[in-house]
Amino acid sequence: MEDYRVLLYYKYVHIEDPEQFKDDHLKFCKELGLKGRILVSAEGLNGTVSGTVKQTDAYMEKIHADSRFEDMLFKIDKADDHAFKKMHVRYRPEIVSLQLGDENHDASELTGEFLEPQDFKNALLDENTIVLDARNDYEYDLGHFRGAVRPEIRNFRELPQWIKDNKENFLDKKVLTYCTGGIRCEKLTGWLMKEGIDVAQLHGGIHQYGADPEVQGEYWDGSMYVFDERISVPINKKEPVIVGKDWFDGSPCERYVNCGNPYCNRQMLCSSKNEHAYLRGCSHDCRVHPDNRYVKEHDLSIAEVAKRLDMIGESLPTSSQK
Ligand SMILES: [Zn+2]
Repeated sequence: MEDYRVLLYYKYVHIEDPEQFKDDHLKFCKELGLKGRILVSAEGLNGTVSGTVKQTDAYMEKIHADSRFEDMLFKIDKADDHAFKKMHVRYRPEIVSLQLGDENHDASELTGEFLEPQDFKNALLDENTIVLDARNDYEYDLGHFRGAVRPEIRNFRELPQWIKDNKENFLDKKVLTYCTGGIRCEKLTGWLMKEGIDVAQLHGGIHQYGADPEVQGEYWDGSMYVFDERISVPINKKEPVIVGKDWFDGSPCERYVNCGNPYCNRQMLCSSKNEHAYLRGCSHDCRVHPDNRYVKEHDLSIAEVAKRLDMIGESLPTSSQK
């Protein structure tokens, strides 16, 4: 059996013709046999790819040979197989979707102080710091730094507005931010500085924190959400715990599903038992939605749907009863 690896990497650096770069890069990745997802923008490159050791070595060598990316930091995970089904390289106006519009800035010129894992760990224990999770809510729910603030948002791009609305909580403290590999913080912390907030970011993200041989992921509770087929990876080697909670009954859970209503699509943790009981719907409206994918996939009759709903004390809306 061959050994595989997953590479996680990004860099904020100006790319002259991102559309052309995207086409050339896709061709090169396909020739190598890599799979994954890469975003290209005039502001930089953001990717996660999987492949054999030989393929990923060849990729890293090629990237480092380009003067724009000669200092690219690759976070490397061992894997048993590819972590993606296909190879995509896409053009985007931003390499992380923060949608700052007129308030956008060049993250290669303005970003918060970087803290290495050991320094970040020490800062976590300082009572004058406040730790801010710079990710989506469903990522926090699977795992987070102990005591970290969970912004009341569903998506990372809502974070600037949420911070503006809650700014008084952040002004007299040192704010520590973290995200998966560091890319979101590198952009966000520059914006926070412009808002007058004293901020530092975890260099290399949660990924490097977990990989650090001294720190060993200490004070991280739960697992880390990743945007590939692995979904969750362990971080804390000292005292691993499960903090994920089943959406329906609150029991410990690290299994993700997307809400069966394709217009909701909420990512939620739930056991397979509850997925069946609740028709994979995050709410009553999603459970009885006419396009519910769970109901379609299992080819459930109206009578069967009604029966399952009855078990959880709900019923079909009158219009759909025949
Ligand atoms: Zn839903």
